[in-house]
Formats: sequence, C-alpha cells, structure tokens
Amino acid sequence: MLADRLQRIGGSPTLKINAKANAMKREGIDVVNLSVGEPDFPTPENIKKAAIAAINNNYTRYTATCGIPEIKQAIIRKYKNECGVDYKPSQVIVGTGGKQCLFNACIATVAPGEEVIIPVPYWVSYPQMVNMARGIPVYVETREEDGFLLTPEDLERAITPNTKALFLNSPSNPTGGAYNEYQLREVVEVALKEGLIIYADEIYEKLVYDGLKFTSVCQLGPEAVAKSVIFNGLSKAYSMTGWRLGWAVGPEEIIAGMSKVQDHSTSNPSSISQWAGVEALNGPQYDVIKMKTEFEKRRDYMQYRLEMLDRVSCRKPRGAFYVFPNMSYTYDMEYEGMQIRNSYGLAYFLLKEAHVAVVPGAAFGDDKFIRLSYSNSMDRIKLAMDRISTALSKLTLARKVKVFALNNIRTKVGNYVETETGIGQDLRHALAAEADSHLNFDDYYEWNANIAGTVIQLRTNSPHLMDFWMENWYPGQLETDLEPHGVIYAVKGVTGRDSRAFYHSESRTGFIFNSAYYGQLRSMALGMVADIMERMSDTHLVHGSCLDVNGKGALIFGGPGMGKSRPVFNLLAKPGVKLVGYDNVLVRYTMREAIADVPERKIYFKTKFVEKMDVLAPLLDRGKCENVQTDKSQCDNEPCLREDKCRLDRGKPFCYTGFRNSRAILDPYWIGGVEKHSRRTSLKNVVILHSESLSQPIAKLDPKKAVEIMESGRSGMKTPGMQENFFNPHLLVRNSDRIDLQKRFFERLFSLANVYYVSADMGKEKIVSAVAELCGAE
Ligand code: PMP
Repeated sequence: MLADRLQRIGGSPTLKINAKANAMKREGIDVVNLSVGEPDFPTPENIKKAAIAAINNNYTRYTATCGIPEIKQAIIRKYKNECGVDYKPSQVIVGTGGKQCLFNACIATVAPGEEVIIPVPYWVSYPQMVNMARGIPVYVETREEDGFLLTPEDLERAITPNTKALFLNSPSNPTGGAYNEYQLREVVEVALKEGLIIYADEIYEKLVYDGLKFTSVCQLGPEAVAKSVIFNGLSKAYSMTGWRLGWAVGPEEIIAGMSKVQDHSTSNPSSISQWAGVEALNGPQYDVIKMKTEFEKRRDYMQYRLEMLDRVSCRKPRGAFYVFPNMSYTYDMEYEGMQIRNSYGLAYFLLKEAHVAVVPGAAFGDDKFIRLSYSNSMDRIKLAMDRISTALSKLTLARKVKVFALNNIRTKVGNYVETETGIGQDLRHALAAEADSHLNFDDYYEWNANIAGTVIQLRTNSPHLMDFWMENWYPGQLETDLEPHGVIYAVKGVTGRDSRAFYHSESRTGFIFNSAYYGQLRSMALGMVADIMERMSDTHLVHGSCLDVNGKGALIFGGPGMGKSRPVFNLLAKPGVKLVGYDNVLVRYTMREAIADVPERKIYFKTKFVEKMDVLAPLLDRGKCENVQTDKSQCDNEPCLREDKCRLDRGKPFCYTGFRNSRAILDPYWIGGVEKHSRRTSLKNVVILHSESLSQPIAKLDPKKAVEIMESGRSGMKTPGMQENFFNPHLLVRNSDRIDLQKRFFERLFSLANVYYVSADMGKEKIVSAVAELCGAE
C-alpha cells in the first residue's frame, strides 16, 4: 500500500530507544538517558517573554510562508555580523525546524536518480531525505583518526557525473567532529570545482570547544555562497527543540524552490516561534555562552571517563553534545552466555545491565561506535559512566565466536508492485526499447528457465535476480535456435521510472522496472507459464500448498492470513507425508486422475515462517536469503518492537522476522531428502480454509459450490480487499474467457477429489489436526 520510496525507511532510532528507556522508567527502573538529541536547559526567559508578547499582540495568524520580515532581518543581520555575508530577504526561509528546511531543500533540488554524497557517520535523517526525494545516497566513510572529517581526496573519489550535492555537518551529530577553516576550505573547494550544491548543516555552530573558531561554509567566498545552502535553527543554540524553528539561507532559486514545497505542505512555521526567534537572534547571547561552557565541562568529564576504559577509543569531539566512542572490542565479548555482536547488541546490554540508554552507531552508518549524549546533568553523567564501566567489566571473552555469514541480499524495493496487463502492441515495443537501452553488454544477464516444459527467458541487469532465477528453476536449453515461449525483461536503474511491471500477453513479454525483488519476477514467470500452458496444454496452475500423504495428494487453499502454510510444515513431521509444492502446482487431468507437478526446483518463502516451523531454521543458514533484516532502524515488525523482544537488540546479526516480506530460497530436498519431497502426486483431497462464521467448522462441499468459492476467492478473508479469484495472485490474465477456463479446470478437479471447507478460526492446532484427518495423515 505504501509508496516504494518509503519501503526502506524506518522511524527515528533515538525515539525508539527513548521509548524503551521510558518504559523501563515506568517500571520503576532509574535509567540514565544518554540518548537524547537536545539540550537539557530551559529556554531563556527573554525568549519566552517575547513569545508571550507575540500572543498578546495577536501575532497568531498565518504569516508569509518564508517567515515574517522581522525574523528574516534578524537572520540577515546574523550572517552579516558573524560571517560578513550579505543575504537578501529572498535568500532566507524559515521552516518548522532545521529538519524541515533540509528536507525541503532535498525535495527542491534532487531529481530522481541523482546522487547525493553523505559522509559517514551521518545524522540519521540525511539518507532518508535523499531517498524520499528519490535520489541516491552515496556514502563516503570518514576515519576516526581524521576526527571523522571528510578528506578532499575521499570526496573527489566519490563524485560522478551524476552527483548533485554534498551534505556537510559541522559540528557533527553524532561524532562531534568539527572542521577548522582550513579543513573546511579544502573540502568545499573540491565540491565547488565539481559544481556540487553544498547542504551545510550548521545547527550546532554555537557549541564548539577548545577555543575552536567556528567557520561557516558561507565564509569561504562568493563562490561558496553561490553554491551552498546553510541550515541552522533555534533548537540547539537556544534550547528550543519543541518550538520548531529553523532556517536556511542560500541561492535565491533554491530558496524559492524550498518555499514552493513549504507553501504546499506546512506553510509558515509557528508565528509565535518566529517572534521568539527574533528575540533569540537579536537579544542577549549570554545563555548560549553559559550553556556552551557547561557542555564543555561535561564533555571533558565524559571524555576522561571513556579514556579510562580499557580498549575503548574515543576521538575527542570538538563540538555539539555527543561523544562517539569506538566500542567494537565488545563484539567479541559475552555476558551470561549472551554474546554482543554489534552496536545494537551493546546498546541493549547497556540499557538492560547498566540502565543507561545510548544510541547504537549502526543508526548513523557505523556499527563500531555508540553515541553518548552529554546533555544530562553532571551527576547523572557520573552515575551513567560508573554504571557503564561496571557493566563492561562484567563482560568476558565469548567462548565460541561462530562467524556466520548469512547469504543475504537487500533490495531497494521489497514488496510486490502492480502489474499492468492488457497493454497494447505499441506500448510493448516502447517498453522493450526502453528496457533494451538499459541492458548494456557489460552488465547483461540472460538465462532460459525450463518451467514444466515452458521456456521463459530472463533478460536482466540485476545479478541478484539472475542468481535467484538460476536457483529457482531447472535450466532450459541455451545454445539452440529454439525461441523461448516467453521473455521477461527485469531492468533496474531506470531513472525517472517508478517500480512497475507490465505484461503483454499476445507476445508473452513481461517487463519489470526498478525492482530487484525476486518475488515479483518469480510471480510473473509463474503467471506467464499459466497464461501459456492453460491455453496450449490443458494444464492449470493453482496457488495453494500441496502435500502427498501416502500416495494421495492434498491441496490446501486459502487467502493471505489464513495460515495455509502451517499445516504443510506441521504435517511434514508425520510419517508418509511429503511436500509437493509449497506455493503452487501445475495440475493436468486424465480420465481418472488429477495429477499435480511442481514447476519449481526450489521453494521461495517468507523467512518469518521459521517462527512457526522448527525444521526451517537450520535450513535457512544454508539457503539464500533476500531482505532479511540486519538493521534495527528499518525493522517493521511492530509487535516485536513493542514487546522488547528484538533479536538485533540482543546482539544477533540478523532477524528473520524483522521485515514482513523477507524471503529465502531453498531446496525442498533439504527438509528430509526423498522421504519428504515428491515432485508429483495424484490429487484426492482439497481443503479450502475460510473464516466465515459457519455453524459447522468442517464441511464437505459439493463441487459446484466449491467452484463458486474458488472463483470469488473470497472466503471471509482476514485481509479484506485482498481476494483474488481462485486465490491465485500469480494469474496475469483475468478476462472472462480465462475465468471460464479456470472454472472448467476446477470443475474437473472437484469431480476427481473430495473438497472440504475448513474454518481457519478453530485455532492453529485444530486446523492442523483437521487437515491431517481429512487428508489421511496419522
Ligand atoms: N541537523 C542535525 C545534525 C541535528 O542533529 C538536528 C537535530 N537533531 C537537526 C538538524 C534538526 O534540528 P531541528 O529540526 O530541531 O531544527
């Protein structure tokens, strides 16, 4: 249901950790929170008064989108006084926090497919902003020994003709790294030489230590002014995070673009906050200096405590209010039998054992580190550091460090997208030309799959799709003049195109653009096989689970959420039961038999099923996986997050259930050899699962009624709106002729096999035993 661009975007990791810490606090545990990203000081009194005055003066209406003239003037004055740069009012915009300004700038300047360079470690939102603008984040690693500053050489190497912009964040969240004028100039010169836009996030500018003089990118000369957008705000300098006021200054054209985005999304930021901002910028700066002095003291203390810790390295931060120690030594350690494997595992250990909340470095793109915020009182910081050192001292070297590398690939798109069928000849030709133009000889893969005698050729530029494709099917002949029965183009990296699929039935050509999710390709191949074979050879593809029980075939149908896979894997443990097809079989008819064959060599299924089926877990270690969750910040398993059961938190390097759609492909013979897998069976029993409230939980259906239910695909579905006729999402062509053909097939099937209507609401165990009984499994 969600747009592609949101598929890989998780929520704020800091908020998630805070939520967990708060839950512990509610249980009476005294957690010290070092995960916060805001100053712990009150907003200065003069600013609060200005806000109250604004309310009393009724300055409470909409303002100009870009802000009231007074705040623009205050911002202009600031840059004039502090940087010696003259900005015009048309070069200034205020927004709902620096964050909104950054987001709007990305939307306004980045075109789909353009690259934006992000130094790592990065503030968590930059990559997601680029993603939402449909740009491509390009990560450039920085080094601890360089103070996490980007070097001009590394930047130069990362630039391509497609690079649009560069993020620079000084002082940095999360590292506290800050550039001096010379270092900044070196980097900015490279960016300017290559014509990049610089997004300079200077929100922590007032918090620099050790006498470092903060340098703004706009101070580096007129060329820098012309190519950079400078972001800042009230949140950090004036302790005003909740007031939501930030700004950007930059080239008129970009500011005008940002203003358009803002016009049609949020309009002006709060008028009251704008008036408070006027006072913040024009009024006395005493509180800022006081806060900075206090932060510097705390930083020194925290740094000192970290330096006392064995094997921890910590680059002394020069700004912001974070330290970013390298704690990777702990990843070989364990506590009470639980091994810490990564920054999530360490953060979890510190929360549970030391009662200190920190943010794992993985959230910022570097797993070796954790981020500690010193935005907490000195007493609390002392307490936290005591607790951290005690907890760390309890770690022992892990007894057996099993290095286990999951064979896993993550695809940008991880869900099915719609397939447009019924396209005309002209569009087919245009799509083929477009696809061909992206299949260059140096990244072109082609392979014929033999799917129950039908040859489907894949033409792709995705090594992942090629890999899974070759795993999934038996090979078709390659080196002959034989034309394949159908062709699928699966092409990624097509700029300006959404992920989308098309199918032209007459020429049996399929197209998948910008999705390397294998499920899409596989489903299209099965749909094409159905389209071809059902017309040509009296064979139909059914979507259901198929078992062989002592020589008698059983088919289980049901919509999504009905749990048709559970009986399959649970019954497999019984003697005489074999898996035939996990997802589908091809059925053909003789006078007396309905014979089911599996078209696939491998099974492709959701890895979350390991939760339900013990037999699968060890097999996954050998199989190939797709989109298994390795990054907590992108986890979409809400119940799991709520229950505080996250495996990644406990230091596991991956989680099979963290992404609803993660998949694995594996050999059905691994389940139990020939004893447990058969490629053919003769169908005798059919079970249709439903969730209608009927008085009889199990009923025998007459064939006519059964065909009706199959056709509607509606059996009291748990996920309304998801019904597909014949419960078959793979079918590509659904015109009335095809529906009739399907009905005729099912009439034949139901004249040869018993059909039972079984309530899926009886409870998991009962369903399994009902299916077992109906199909003759002991
Ligand atoms: N940039 C960085 C690096 C930040 O850390 C933050 C706040 N966490 C922001 C921008 C955004 O701040 P705001 O939206 O509150 O102005």
